[in-house]
Amino acid sequence: MKQEIAFIQSEELKVKPKADSLGFGKYYSDYMFVMDYHSEKGWYEPRITPYEQLILDPAAMVFHYGQAIFEGLKAYKTADGTIQLFRPEKNMKRFNESCDRLCIPQIDENFLLKAIKELILIEKDWIPEGDGTSLYIRPFIFATEPYLGVRPSHQYKLLVILSPVGAYYGDQLSPVKIYVEEQYVRAVIGGVGHVKTAGNYAASMKAQEVAEAKGFAQILWLDAKENKYVEEVGSMNIFFKIKGEVVTPKLNGSILSGVTRDSVIQLLKHWNIPVREEKISIEEVFAAHERGDLEEVFGSGTAAVISPVGELNWNDRSIEINHQKIGQLSQRVYDEITGIQLGKKEDPFNWIIKVAQV
Ligand SMILES: *Cc1c(COP(=O)(O)O)cnc(C)c1O
Repeated sequence: MKQEIAFIQSEELKVKPKADSLGFGKYYSDYMFVMDYHSEKGWYEPRITPYEQLILDPAAMVFHYGQAIFEGLKAYKTADGTIQLFRPEKNMKRFNESCDRLCIPQIDENFLLKAIKELILIEKDWIPEGDGTSLYIRPFIFATEPYLGVRPSHQYKLLVILSPVGAYYGDQLSPVKIYVEEQYVRAVIGGVGHVKTAGNYAASMKAQEVAEAKGFAQILWLDAKENKYVEEVGSMNIFFKIKGEVVTPKLNGSILSGVTRDSVIQLLKHWNIPVREEKISIEEVFAAHERGDLEEVFGSGTAAVISPVGELNWNDRSIEINHQKIGQLSQRVYDEITGIQLGKKEDPFNWIIKVAQV
């Protein structure tokens, strides 16, 4: 796509929030990227406009049949003022995989990445600089055609919005209590669990609400067919360290292929720590704990990077992992990935894409 990206200047800029009040997804920057799709025109009118409300037809197909997908990545500002992204091409590729599964027309991955870089440059002052902070980037696409017949929409909107975010857990990783879900499922093989579509989240909220009421922070999802094999934790991939070896569920069509998951696997291999992608049952996890072999459990995802699990509750059995303390390996992986993202550590894998130096 050789299109020029139009720029529409905002008349007034917002007051930026304080670095210690950021939280996650509470504030949005001054501008957003927008592009439209029509089956007769393809993707058209890419533009960076002031962040503003949208006008949509009440019959817009997204409201009725849920064609909506998204991505999540972050921009970082290093100590020397370099603005950089972490493996963004993986997000662009996954965005197109989500498009494909939801019958949404493909996007030009290079063009969208270029548009995101342009947007970030305009919004560079919105990248917070405190420890653990970053500018969260949320690209998304949804169906806009006003039509109530069931078929893929002929019209879509793609937007990218930016949100300055704080460290997920403050300045310390803190282990969380997890509820192993037996009644509800997140995704089925053959369904849409492997892509980032809004409906996956809608489907997960009931179980999350029930678990929260019982005092748990997140849910550990089991496979939908046998209710036996571990899939993911909340909206993160999951890792178990058992007797010095790391195991993570193998991608099976219902598990999301996390960029952080892939990075953790590559790092472990680089460190010569045995890591296997395979089916692992919740029974095996609890049995490993019985034997005293379950050393660490952690989730991985862009938002929190690494989220240690301190307690697992399954069928009224509760196990404590590593005395509810952050495991050594969890901490090491966290330090390494955030170190690379913030330019404090070597990047032997060429994961970093530099956007600019300011
Ligand atoms: C986004 C997401 C993840 C984590 O993916 P990352 O690319 O590491 O951020 C894991 N599981 C689900 C269900 C997700 O939506």
